[in-house]
Amino acid sequence: MKLENDSYKKIIENLHDGLYLVDQNRVITYWNKGAENISGFAASEVIGRSCSDNILTHLDSDFNNLCLEGCPLAASMADGKRRDAEVYMHHRKGHRISVSVRVSTLTDKDGHIIGGIELFTDISNHETNKSRVRELEKLALLDNLTQLANRRYIESEINNRLEEKKRFNLSFGILFIDIDHFKQFNDTYGHDVGDKVLKFIANNFTSNSRPFDLYGRWGGEEFIGIIRNINEQDLITIANKVRSLVEKSYISHDGKILQVTISVGATLVRQGDSIESLIKRADALLYKSKAAGRNCVTTCLTDVAV
Ligand code: GH3
Ligand code: MG
Ligand code: MG
Repeated sequence: MKLENDSYKKIIENLHDGLYLVDQNRVITYWNKGAENISGFAASEVIGRSCSDNILTHLDSDFNNLCLEGCPLAASMADGKRRDAEVYMHHRKGHRISVSVRVSTLTDKDGHIIGGIELFTDISNHETNKSRVRELEKLALLDNLTQLANRRYIESEINNRLEEKKRFNLSFGILFIDIDHFKQFNDTYGHDVGDKVLKFIANNFTSNSRPFDLYGRWGGEEFIGIIRNINEQDLITIANKVRSLVEKSYISHDGKILQVTISVGATLVRQGDSIESLIKRADALLYKSKAAGRNCVTTCLTDVAV
């Protein structure tokens, strides 16, 4: 079977996965529909720009910015080898999405490297999230702005988890999360921009959490994560992951990059806890994170911000 050039183009254009090409200076020369769908950036917004120019700004699993050092595409163009990696990509709306990437080189007919190609697959939990939103909407348990569970639903979920703890001794933890200096942010950039921040923070939670964990909006700029089947050390890791993802997220507004941070209080459930005692303890730990300078996590284990 012989395919015409146009047929190849159509196949590539309509791949479910994202695919883009860069030249030797890492300037984007091609961007398919899959890349548009996954990243939120239209081809017209990115073609001709460098991929490190506040577009994708990949982060590795330790949240280091790979565009500054360790870009897999640059490494492949330097040594000609293919590479696979799992990275956090910047979405146009601000949040981070988990993608697995495969990079390799483009060569001319003499074998000289003339650019790079990256194929990326979205590995966030979209299907779980979509059905969660539909369910919550039906039951009026959805926070409309952020598309997270609302306070009523968080309360009922915590009560369910407390019942499980009592009956089967199943452990869980909660993260009490509050945006830092958000009043000042709203005062500076306006309430509408503040709302965009609330949305991208919420998207960070849903795009990067395990399917059985639940994040909701407790009120205003406060969120609660209910983290199931967990020990204290892993709870700290998860808390620091969401904190780091928010710290490394941004939106572009009037040519400026806007960022915020969050503080977290994290605690495991204890025998005899009620919803009030559990949230009160998490809130007290959050307060310690605020007092320690914000953008940090405090747990009972650490008792100081980490
Ligand atoms: P801290 O670091 O101590 O938490 O300081 P803060 O400024 O974040 O805390 P404070 O409680 O003083 O202010 C919370 C701000 O959150 C005030 C309000 O403008 C903002 N906020 C609450 N709900 C919303 C909302 O739905 N949209 C927007 N844009 N802002 C909100
Ligand atoms: Mg608050
Ligand atoms: Mg706050």
